[in-house]
Amino acid sequence: MNDPTEPAPLHPETRAIRAGRADNDRALAPILWASTTFVTPTVEEGRRMAVGVGSTRFYSRYGNPTVAGFEDAIATLEGAESARAFASGMGAMTAVVLGLCSTGDHIVAQRQLYAGTQLLLQSVCPRFGIEVTFVDGTEPGAFAAAVRPGRTTMIVAETPANPRLDLVDLDELGAIVGPITVVDSTFATPLAQRPLEYGVDLVVHSATKAIAGHNDATIGVVAGSADYLDWLYSFAVIQGANASPFDAMNALRGLRTLAVRLERQSASAQRLAEFLEDHPRVTEVRYPGLSSHPQFELARRQMDLPGGLLTFEVAPGEAGALEAGRAFVEGVELAQLATSLGGPETLVTHPASTTHASLTPEELAANGITPATVRVSVGLEHVDDIVRDVAAALERV
Ligand SMILES: *Cc1c(COP(=O)(O)O)cnc(C)c1O
Repeated sequence: MNDPTEPAPLHPETRAIRAGRADNDRALAPILWASTTFVTPTVEEGRRMAVGVGSTRFYSRYGNPTVAGFEDAIATLEGAESARAFASGMGAMTAVVLGLCSTGDHIVAQRQLYAGTQLLLQSVCPRFGIEVTFVDGTEPGAFAAAVRPGRTTMIVAETPANPRLDLVDLDELGAIVGPITVVDSTFATPLAQRPLEYGVDLVVHSATKAIAGHNDATIGVVAGSADYLDWLYSFAVIQGANASPFDAMNALRGLRTLAVRLERQSASAQRLAEFLEDHPRVTEVRYPGLSSHPQFELARRQMDLPGGLLTFEVAPGEAGALEAGRAFVEGVELAQLATSLGGPETLVTHPASTTHASLTPEELAANGITPATVRVSVGLEHVDDIVRDVAAALERV
C-alpha cells in the first residue's frame, strides 16, 4: 500500500535527469572544471583535503567538481552511498581488483567476461599472487560452490555478459556472504538493472558505452557502500586513473538522455533479433528479449529493458565460418565495423578477430564464441533502415 503522506519516489528515468547537480551553481548543463588544482584556503584545510576522502577542490587526481557531479548521479541511480569515476571502464575494474585484493587472496570470476577483465584476472592477478577460479556464471550455484571460506575475497561477475548476453542471477549472487561481490553492469546501464538492490556490493560500468552514449568519452565508474568506496578512493588517488573532467561532462550530458536512447535501442534490437531468428542464413540469435534466450525468465525478472545488444551466428557458407563472419561485418553499409557499443550508430563487431583476438581457441570456445559470431550494438537509426542493411549484408554472405 502506498502511504499517501510519502511523496512518490522519482522514477529512474527522472532521476537520470535530475541527479548530479548539487555542485553546479545555477547552470543547467554540467560545468567543465578543467582546473587541475585549487587554491588552498589554509594549511589546516589543505591537510584535511590531502588526507580525507572525496576532496573536490584540492588537486584533480583526488577529485574534481565536474567528475563529482557524474559520480553523484551514478550513485543516485544505482542506489549507492558513493561512487568513484575512473579514466575508463578498465581503470575502474583494475582499481576494484587490485585496490581491494592482496597477495594470497582468491577470486571467483565467471568465464564469460569482457576480454580486458578476463586478461586482468587471468594474466595480471597471478603475477601479484592473487589466484582466480573461473566458473560458468549461468550455472546455478556455480559462484557459491567455488568460494573457499576464509580465502575468497571477491567474486567478479558481468551481466549481461560480453559477447553472448549470458546472464548471472543477481538474487543468487547478492545472497553470497563473505566475499565482496562485484558486477559489471555495463550492458544493462542503471536504467535496466540495479545490482546493489539485490545485495551485490559493488557495481562497475564502462560509462564509455551507453551511459555517455555518444562515442566521445572514455570513462568508468564504480558504485557501492561508502566503506568500500572510501577504501577504493585511497587506492585510486595513487593509481592515478582518475576520470577526465571533460569526459565526465560528456558522460553526465549523455546520462540525461539515456532512458529514451535505451528504450529506442531495446525496441529496435528486439525487432532485429526477431528478424534474424527467422532468417535462413542465421543459425542462432542471442538476445535477452527473445523467449528463445536460455535465461529469458531471468532477464524478465531482473532487467527492466533487454538493451541494445544482440549476438548471432552467421550460417557458414561454402567458404566456412570465419569467412561468413568476415563477409557479414564487412558487408554492412549503414552499420559500421567498430568496437564499442551503446552509441547512436549501429556497430557490428567480430569478436573472434577483434575484442577476443588475444584468447586461445579453447578460451574462445569456453566463451561460446565461434569464427561466425557477430555482435551488434543497435543504434538510434530508424529500425527499418537497420533491418534492411543487415538483410542485405546477409544476402551477400
Ligand atoms: C568496454 C567494456 C569494459 C571496459 O571499458 P573501457 O571504458 O573500454 O575501459 C568493461 N566491461 C564491459 C562489459 C565493456 O563493454
